[in-house]
Amino acid sequence: MISIVVPVYNEQESLPELFRRLGASAETWGEPFEVLLVDDGSADASWEGIRALNAQDPRWKAVRLGRNFGHQAAISAGIHFAGGDCVVVMDGDLQDSPEDIGHFIEKWREGYHVVYAVRTRRKESSAKKAAYKVFYRMLAALSYVHMPLDAGDFGLMDRKVVDILKSMPERNRFVRGLRSWVGFKQIGIPHERQARAAGEVKYTYWKLLKLAVDGIFSFSAIPLRLATFLGIGTSILSIIAAVFYLLTRLFPAFFQGIGFPMVPGFASLIIAVFFLGGVQLTCLGIVGEYIARIYDEVKARPLWTTMEVLGIVDEAAGKDGPSKPGSQRICG
Ligand code: UDP
Ligand code: MG
Repeated sequence: MISIVVPVYNEQESLPELFRRLGASAETWGEPFEVLLVDDGSADASWEGIRALNAQDPRWKAVRLGRNFGHQAAISAGIHFAGGDCVVVMDGDLQDSPEDIGHFIEKWREGYHVVYAVRTRRKESSAKKAAYKVFYRMLAALSYVHMPLDAGDFGLMDRKVVDILKSMPERNRFVRGLRSWVGFKQIGIPHERQARAAGEVKYTYWKLLKLAVDGIFSFSAIPLRLATFLGIGTSILSIIAAVFYLLTRLFPAFFQGIGFPMVPGFASLIIAVFFLGGVQLTCLGIVGEYIARIYDEVKARPLWTTMEVLGIVDEAAGKDGPSKPGSQRICG
């Protein structure tokens, strides 16, 4: 069976088209399938829409998270509940074309464990496209695992990879990075990223920045090393400067002779103070980023809470109802 995980956050307008297009594609795969819609705390009528889809076709199942936990947590929840031999992740706004999933499945049948879409073109604003370009290149340069360029979460994972992903207890999840980390046989397939089917973009710039920061700090310790190098570099510079100014004091005649301005240096002082202050704050911030992550991991809270399920057995909830937090067990 093939599971398709779709995070949904205020996508009521896109749902009918998703149902039609994904449903039509799924019929061509020649395999049984299930769709797992993860309602990430939508404030609009998405859940009612999801209910209607489930009533129409019980293969369309759903989880409703207790609040908005974010795209990456929603994907993680969906992956947890998916029962298929492979799991496809796609966005609910149809920017990822359901018609491409057939190619993923072909590659999977050939023996690949991970098939991901590589975005050859994006139908988005040019500022955003440039930001994505810079980010993926920076991530690839800094990361200690091989990160494919321009690959998002849209892709297919074999059951083996899914089980490994589920066993990872990380909280600041950058799913596409974790997927690369697993290894196995991976392949990228070119894909043209479409414009949204309907509605507004749900990733605010703030959330997008958090995702980028998560990607870099979760897969690289180079920023920490940068702090060390900056510290060493500025120390060396300041020693050189100190020696130089000491010499100007010891041999003022010589320095006046070569025309060196011997004015008391207010400007250079202020610049040095600002520069060192900036370097120190930056380094503190970098250390802070890692500490914040350690703190988050140590608290070990569940990644999401499950409010309601449709067509799925929620083992974490047991017999008493569906409102226990979504699974220590999954992650531990
Ligand atoms: N999404 C989500 N939770 C959020 C934000 C977004 O589940 O907090 C979902 C959203 O419904 C969509 C997908 O994640 O299906 C991608 O979001 P969006 O289209 O806003 O971002 P972009 O396509 O620009 O990456
Ligand atoms: Mg989108």
